[in-house]
Amino acid sequence: MPFDLAAVIAQKKADGLYRHRRTLASGQGATVRVDGHDLLNFCSNDYLGLATHPEVIAAFRQAASTYGVGSGASHLVCGHSAEHEALEIELAAFTGRERALLFSTGYMANTGIVQALVGRGDAIFEDRLNHASLIDGGLASGAKFQRYRHNDAESLGALLDRSSADRKLIVTDGVFSMDGDVAPLPALAQLAQQHGAWLMVDDAHGIGVLGAHGAGVAEHFALDAKALPVLMGTLGKGAGSFGAFVAGDDVLIDYLINTARSYIYTTALPPAVAAASRTSLKLMQNGQHLRERLRGHIHYFREQATGLGLQLMDSTTPIQPVLLGSNERALTWSAALEQRGILVGAIRPPTVPVGQARLRITFSAAHERDDVDRLLQALADCRGLPA
Ligand SMILES: *Cc1c(COP(=O)(O)O)cnc(C)c1O
Repeated sequence: MPFDLAAVIAQKKADGLYRHRRTLASGQGATVRVDGHDLLNFCSNDYLGLATHPEVIAAFRQAASTYGVGSGASHLVCGHSAEHEALEIELAAFTGRERALLFSTGYMANTGIVQALVGRGDAIFEDRLNHASLIDGGLASGAKFQRYRHNDAESLGALLDRSSADRKLIVTDGVFSMDGDVAPLPALAQLAQQHGAWLMVDDAHGIGVLGAHGAGVAEHFALDAKALPVLMGTLGKGAGSFGAFVAGDDVLIDYLINTARSYIYTTALPPAVAAASRTSLKLMQNGQHLRERLRGHIHYFREQATGLGLQLMDSTTPIQPVLLGSNERALTWSAALEQRGILVGAIRPPTVPVGQARLRITFSAAHERDDVDRLLQALADCRGLPA
C-alpha cells in the first residue's frame, strides 16, 4: 500500500485513541441490547425518548405507505414533498422565525450555511469548543478563521475590535456537545450588534430540551431573529428523528436555497422521515412533562454525584460529563461501567482537548429514577479503580 494506514491505527491503539463501534440489536431507549446483553443506556442524545415513541413510528409508517422510501431527487429537482414543506412551515412557527429550511444532516447544514455566508475576505469567529462541523465549515469557507476562548465574550470582543473585514460571522454551539454548558448568547448577540456582525447558533442539543416549549436556546433567552439571525437545529437528537434545519428571515432562507452547496447537491430526506419529525415536533412542543422528568434526573444526579466526589462540569443540561483526564482512565471507567451493565462513552481527543478525556453521561426522559441510582452505584464503585 502506498500509505502506511496500519501504522496510524497501531499508534491510535497505543495512545488509547482507537475507536470501534458497538452493534445494537434494539432501538434507542433506557436500555439497549448489545452483544446479547441489555445495557442501561447513558450515551444517547434521544433526550426525550421520542426515537421509539409509538406516534412517531406510526407517522413514519403511514408516510412510507403513501410516499415510499426514497425521495428520488434533491429538493430543487423534484424531491421536495408536501411532508418536507409542512415540516419547514411548522419549524418556522416553532422557532418564531419567518421561514425554515431542512437539511439532510446537521453536519451538512453547518458546512453549507457557513460556506454560503462567508468566504475569502470575510472573517469568522468561532468558540474554541465548537462542534467539528462548524470548525470544518469555517476552515473550508476561506474566510479568516479566528477562535475565541470558550464562552468568553471578552475574548470575542477583542478579536472583533481588531477585525476590519466587511462581513463578520460569529458562530457558536448553543449547548456544547461535550461539556453540556450553554453559550452566553445575550452577550454574544450584543457584541454582534455592536460590530455589525452576524450571529449563528447551532442548537443541536437545545432543541426539545431548553425553553418552555422546547424551542431551545433562542426560546430560553428570548432571542428573536434580529438578535439571533441564523438559528440552526437538528432533528436527530431531542426530536428523536433525523435531519436538521436552519430558521431565519425569508431572505436568508431564499439565499441558502440558491447558494448552500450541501443543500443543493444532495438527495432530499425521505418524506417519511419528515413526517416522523412533524409528529416529534408536536410531542416536543407539548413535552413539558418530559422536560420536567429530565430536569429531575439531572438535578438528582448532580446532587448525588457531587456527594460521591466526582468531578462534574458546569452543566445544567442532560449532558453531564465526568472529567477523568487521561485516555486510559476514561477507557477503564467506561469498561468497568459496561461490566456493571451500563453503557457510557469514553470521550477522548480530538473530540475534547488533550488531557480532558471524560465520560459523557447523557440523561433521557425515558430513564427511571432507579436507572439513575444504578448509574450512581456503578460510578461509586469506579472510584476505587487505579488513577
Ligand atoms: C450532532 C451535532 C451536529 C451534527 O448533527 P447531525 O444531524 O448528527 O449531522 C452538529 N452540531 C452539534 C453541536 C452536534 O452535537
